[in-house]
Parts: sequence; C-alpha cells; structure tokens
Amino acid sequence: MESSKRIEQRMRALALARDCAELGARVRTIHHITGISTRELVRLLFTQREQPPRGRAPDTREWYHSANLLCRTEASVIASNFRRLRSMGIAAGEALVCAYRYYQSVYQPPPRISFDRAFDLASHTEALWIAKASSFTMVECKTCGSEYLDAIGSIAIEARHCPFCRLVRRVEVDPRIRGSFPHSAPMDPQIAARFLRQLDSQPDRESPPNSSPFKVDPTKP
Ligand SMILES: [Zn+2]
Repeated sequence: MESSKRIEQRMRALALARDCAELGARVRTIHHITGISTRELVRLLFTQREQPPRGRAPDTREWYHSANLLCRTEASVIASNFRRLRSMGIAAGEALVCAYRYYQSVYQPPPRISFDRAFDLASHTEALWIAKASSFTMVECKTCGSEYLDAIGSIAIEARHCPFCRLVRRVEVDPRIRGSFPHSAPMDPQIAARFLRQLDSQPDRESPPNSSPFKVDPTKP
C-alpha cells in the first residue's frame, strides 16, 4: 500500500515536471516545484538539441515596481487565479501550471510573463518554495472589483494604484494598447471543467473543490 502511494506521488511529480518544462521553466524552477533533483531533471527532460533556458532567473520583487501596466495586469491575472485554485484545494505546483496555461489561453502570444516569473511571483505572494515570507498581497479594487498585486505595506490609493483601472483610462487616449488585450473572452466553463478533471486525478488533495465561479476578465474595469 505504502509503495503504491510512493509510486503515485513519483508519477505525479514527473508529470508535473514535464508540464513545467513544456511551459518553458528553468531546471531550478522545476526542481523547487517538484522536489526532483536538478541532475535528474536535466537527464529526463532535456537533450543536446533541447537545452533548458539559461541566464539569471527573474526576481519579481524588483521587477514589478518598474513593470508597465500591461505586465502588471497580466501578473495580477496569474497571481489571482493561482490563489483561487489553491483555495479550491489544488496543490501549489498543479495550481501554477493551470493558472499559467489559462493565462496563455486568453492573451495573445508571446507572453509578457514567463513561467519562471510566474513561479517567482507566486512564491513571493504566497510565501512558497523560494520565499520564506510574502512580499506581495492581492488587493481588491473598490472601483472595478479586480484583484491586483501590490507590495505588502504599501498604502493602496484606490483606483490610482489599480493597474486595471489605469489601463482602461490609458486605452481611452491610446487605442494602440487595445491590440494587447485578450483575443477572446475567458472560457469559464471549459476552464472550470479542466480544473475539475485535474482535481479528480488528485486523490490526496487537501480539501474538496467548492462551486464558486472561476471568473477573470483582465480587461474588465
Ligand atoms: Zn480597478
């Protein structure tokens, strides 16, 4: 019985590693998410022709404050969905993969937010993996109802801080920015079905899913 559980956990970790690699994750990121050693990940996932991404891993804590409005809204969409999935009982690694795939499905490529950045962002928002404490928090805008990332300790000045409200105002004076908006409306039922299927395949999830709607419209004020 114990050995079959270990086998199942191992299979889940390997499947998760493959999903992360497909989304362009660095070896270090996959290691933190799955617990599989970097050496084994390189051996399993990469060949001489397909090398893992190199270079310095992103540090979201500095980046977010100088990022433009589009990057801030997209980072907020990922972080918000990640948190919702976690609250539905989905394990952190699977939740990040789902939130990132959803983000890719509604925004036009190439993505402004890499999977590694999404990982760093989720870590520093939920105090997971590489972060001992949270540097960010999710704030709900009282004007538009969107959830956005903000640094912990900063004083929210309502709509002036909300990147969604600021983006909407910017669109009014700069129509070119519209081209960066999601090309289709979020597919709530399909995404919800995908999450539920994933939950079904996780017998040891932390808690049962709830029926709260999964709703994000990144362009909606
Ligand atoms: Zn707002």
